[in-house]
Amino acid sequence: MHILLLGAGGFVGSHLVEHLVVRGEHTVTGVDITDEKLAGIASDRFTFHQSDIRTPSRATERLIAKSDLVVDLVAYANPSMYVSSPLEVFELNFDVNLAIARLCIKHKKRLIQYSSAEVYGKAGTDTLCREEESDSIFGPVTKSRWIYATAKLLLERVICAYGDAGDLEYTIVRPFNFIGTRIDYLVPPGAIGGPRVFPHFMSALLTRGPIRLVNGGLVHRAFLHIDDANNAFQTLLDHPNETRNRVFNIGNPGNNVTIRELAFVMMDLYRELTGEEPASRVEEIDGEEFYGVGYEDGDRLPPDISRMRALGWEPHFDLRATLADVIRDYLVQADRLVCTSTPGMTSTAESRPMVLSRVPETAVPGYR
Ligand code: UDP
Repeated sequence: MHILLLGAGGFVGSHLVEHLVVRGEHTVTGVDITDEKLAGIASDRFTFHQSDIRTPSRATERLIAKSDLVVDLVAYANPSMYVSSPLEVFELNFDVNLAIARLCIKHKKRLIQYSSAEVYGKAGTDTLCREEESDSIFGPVTKSRWIYATAKLLLERVICAYGDAGDLEYTIVRPFNFIGTRIDYLVPPGAIGGPRVFPHFMSALLTRGPIRLVNGGLVHRAFLHIDDANNAFQTLLDHPNETRNRVFNIGNPGNNVTIRELAFVMMDLYRELTGEEPASRVEEIDGEEFYGVGYEDGDRLPPDISRMRALGWEPHFDLRATLADVIRDYLVQADRLVCTSTPGMTSTAESRPMVLSRVPETAVPGYR
């Protein structure tokens, strides 16, 4: 197949490119504004096409027309933006994605659309998020944080309707808090808003700044190792018939923790990997102070992954292994790693060989 990955330069996209290039079964074209996160990926099976998907162009349409499968990862996934720039979020996460779906219809291309676990909204009364049974519960319209979830859910609804009408062959993916290297970017000590929770806590550990628990860090999230996420994608590719016009949760229900627990596990892993006591103190902060007026937090239930399990997929990395893998990577870049083994690692994944001495107060890598 020739696969077109829209949003290939992001966190998830760059890992999918790496995965596809290593497997070598398909040719891949990646489209994004920047290829910073694709540095080091070189293969004659991969072509990068630099363009801004927000600007409609004949080039995008030509790339879709030439592909066998379109994977759409294009989205803003930054909670600060949901309240500071809700229209921009809606325009990219709905309008632009819908235009892509319509081009897939026009050129009769299969579409794998990455949506979000956020479409479930706040935790309901069930025990798990189920693709076809759970209600979606969003906050009031004055809380513009929900524009992201609303846009993603509406996109899903329209794509499903095109599928029901027989116009589009699609698969919708609902990712639950993927974690891996290259996730977002690091921030200076005490920064508010911006990236997702892992880079915030990692930045705090590296800069000895505060770890901030938004609204006390009482909500739950289930974190999934990016390698498990890549394997889930591969499972979808390998089952075109079973995945046709269906929605799939991709997450690890076994890794469901509160954000407060996440902070303490990360501190513990930092201690074990560096041999030093983390200097960060844990603080609580109000959600609207952290992200801006219009932010509202929602507790979330873990995913029901029986649909993916029925295809033979199973997540392999437990929470400590998931976090340790990525923390280790940042510590290597900051030259702070002293421990070569991964504490609590239950995966069979190989740990990267390295023994480095601790250098106090290096510049924070990856900060921008
Ligand atoms: N969060 C936090 N401290 C931070 C960054 C995030 O307590 O420094 C919280 C945030 O309010 C949310 C959770 O961590 O409750 C997960 O946030 P993230 O943006 O990573 O993912 P999402 O909310 O989209 O699942």
